[in-house]
Formats: sequence, C-alpha cells, structure tokens
Amino acid sequence: MKILVINAGSSSCKYQLLEMDTQSLLGSGLVERIGARMGCLTHRTYKGGKEEKVVREHPFPTHVESMEEVIALLTDPEAGVIKNKNEIAAIGHRVVHGGEAITAPVLVTQPVKDIIRECFLFSPLHNPANLTGIEVAEKLFPGVPNVAVFDTEFGMGIPEEAYMYALPYHLYEELKIRRYGFHGTSHKYVAGRTAEYLGKALKDLCSVTMHLGNGSSMTCVKNGRCFDTSMGLTPLEGLVMGTRCGSIDPAIVPFVMEKKGLSASEVDALMNKQSGLLGLCGHTDMRDVHAQIEAGDKRAALAFKMLVRSVKKILGSYLALLGGKTDAVVFTAGIGENDSITRAAVCEGMEAFGIKLDKAENNTRKPGARTISTPDSNIPVLIIPTNEELQIAMAAKALIGK
Ligand code: ADP
Repeated sequence: MKILVINAGSSSCKYQLLEMDTQSLLGSGLVERIGARMGCLTHRTYKGGKEEKVVREHPFPTHVESMEEVIALLTDPEAGVIKNKNEIAAIGHRVVHGGEAITAPVLVTQPVKDIIRECFLFSPLHNPANLTGIEVAEKLFPGVPNVAVFDTEFGMGIPEEAYMYALPYHLYEELKIRRYGFHGTSHKYVAGRTAEYLGKALKDLCSVTMHLGNGSSMTCVKNGRCFDTSMGLTPLEGLVMGTRCGSIDPAIVPFVMEKKGLSASEVDALMNKQSGLLGLCGHTDMRDVHAQIEAGDKRAALAFKMLVRSVKKILGSYLALLGGKTDAVVFTAGIGENDSITRAAVCEGMEAFGIKLDKAENNTRKPGARTISTPDSNIPVLIIPTNEELQIAMAAKALIGK
C-alpha cells in the first residue's frame, strides 16, 4: 500500500511517498517559493538502495502546478517510482490546528474542512496552507481518500488542569482559549517508538520527550498518553526556540506594545520571528550558535544557556508530575538527535534525579534509536529519531483500513 504524505506551507510543500508494507520511503521532496518569480523543486527517489536527486528551478504559480510536477516526477517512466498515480491508496495531510473538536486523525469531509477553516484564527499561517494542500489533492487525486492528521491531536489528551489557563473562565467558553499543544504527531510517534524500544506496552509508558528543533516542545507522557505539553494555545509557549521567545511574562506584551507603538500583529511577529536564539544572538541554527560561542561571542553563550535552562526547567517539572516513575527521557528532532553539546548540558547535574549520561555514547554519532545513559542511570536517556511523515502515513493507513 502506497501513501502520499503532504505538508503544505504557505509558499512551500513537503511530500513523501511511502510503501507501507515495508515502511520504506519511495520518494520525497520539497517545493519552495511557490508563487514567487522563481521557485525550486528538490525531488529525491529511493530505488534499490540508491538515492537519486532532481532539482528543478522555474516558477510554480500555485500549489496545483507544484503537485502536478511532483506527480509527473513520481510517475516518470524511467526515473519514477510508481507507474500511475492511481497506485496511491490515500493521502495523509499534516494540519497544524484542529481546535477542540479534533482528537484523532480523520478522513477529510466538508465538516472537517470547516473545522480547519474555523481554526485559521489560531494558526493563521499554517492552517490556510494545510487546507490548500487538501484541496489540491482532492483536485489532482479524485476519489483517493484524504486523511488529516493534526499537530494538536496528541496534546488534546491532557487533563483539564493542564489545558486551562488561569484567566476568567468565560474566555475559555467564548474563545476556546486553552492549551492545545503542538508537534503532537512527532510526540505521538516518539512515544510509540520509545515504548517499542523499551519493550513495554505503550499504555504503560511514562516518559518525557524533548522535541528540540528549530521549533521546540516537550511532552510528559503518562500511561502512553500526553499528560502535559509545553506549547499552548499557539506554538509560541514553552521553550526558547530558534526564533520564538517561548514563555515570557505576559505583561511584557502590552508594555512593549505601548512603549514601542506596536500593533498586536507586530508584537506577535516580534515574539514568533525575531526572538529566541535569533533575537538574543543573531543566529537561529544551533550549529551557528556553537560556532559563535567558540569564537568568544558572549550573546551566543547566553542564548545557549537560556535555551538549556528552559529545557531543564520543564524536564524537572515533568519528572515531578510523573512522581518518580519515569521510564525514559528522550531527545528527538534536529537538535535533540544531532547536538551532543545540548544533550550534555541538559543532563548535567541531573544525577540526583536518576539521570546519568554516558559521555562517550552521547558524543558518538550513530543513526537510529539508542541509549546514551550509563547502565546505572535510573532513568534511561534515549535518542529516538522522529518521523512525522511515517506517523501521518500510519494514521492514514489505519483509517482507510477501517
Ligand atoms: P524544524 O523545527 O524546522 O522541523 P528540525 O527538527 O529539523 O527543525 O531541526 C532543525 C534544527 O536542528 C536546526 O535549526 C539546528 O538548530 C539543529 N541541528 C540540525 N543538525 C544539527 C547538528 N548537527 N548539530 C546541532 N544542531 C543541529
């Protein structure tokens, strides 16, 4: 069974074609700068263990033309990986916000599209693009089921005391202001893989997942379900991130608006796009931050320390929430999987909490899921590579199977 996964952004579109019988990747790619004067499609195929890459640079006026070209590449008689687009059994879509109504992956119907539209309010950049991706797929793959998998789904399982903000209750009733949580597809996938790696049933898993990438979030997993999560109404809350400030004193917002004469959307952009590592030291990529620290840049050193402290504070609070029964703490995503310096800094001084990192293992680069703590660490520290596309495809497969 072949499933296409689409992650449509406002001017970009990522995709993967997966063979579900073997959970292997047949093709993947990214179309960038859709709608701009010049666009770029980078397409990869994987045949017989060999990777082929194609780069096409020309304008892609809309997502429709982009997807048409992707289909042509996937079905190319020589370089393609399928003969006909009809071989695709379902299309899985990443959708950022599903509001309160969505608690599981769903087959796309008109009411589902209406919910995605209602959530434009909470996710003005992503949800419209995600809906475009769905509508393009409906047009280009008539009759093929579309499945929407929401970033908010896993976080919807958290208890009321975790999702409510201590604001007047009517704001929740009227505006649905609550914690939703994001990166849910990654957190759900990693929880499943962690349980598998530890040889436990998912329903028995109690763990903390640190998804540290350009955007970063953490979840506390209790009995296989999300028990708390660091992102909130939007993906701004929680950790210090590449360009997002994470949690700050909310009183800073009206103060900055008043003092700098900024509108609500301007201060929103300031916190989402000009803050975090970028706002502190001018770099968003952790590799650049480390290079700057090496070169003696004090702001970069400060930014790194702040990011690590924000992770540690949430890690400590989640260990407290789990009450001493933690099966694993898990690093995932770009920084979590690749950056031994961040992992070491997060785990430093955590021995009293049962976390003992194996320095040599942490510093070794190896693919796949693995343990990086010492054998006598009470809580195993793991690296579990995330795979949101595979999780989306598995959800699509499960739904169409029904
Ligand atoms: P996104 O949040 O955009 O999905 P990723 O999870 O792919 O991002 O993470 C991207 C980030 O991971 C980069 O911005 C960079 O900070 C970090 N990263 C990737 N590779 C490395 C590496 N080898 N060492 C340190 N950091 C890395």
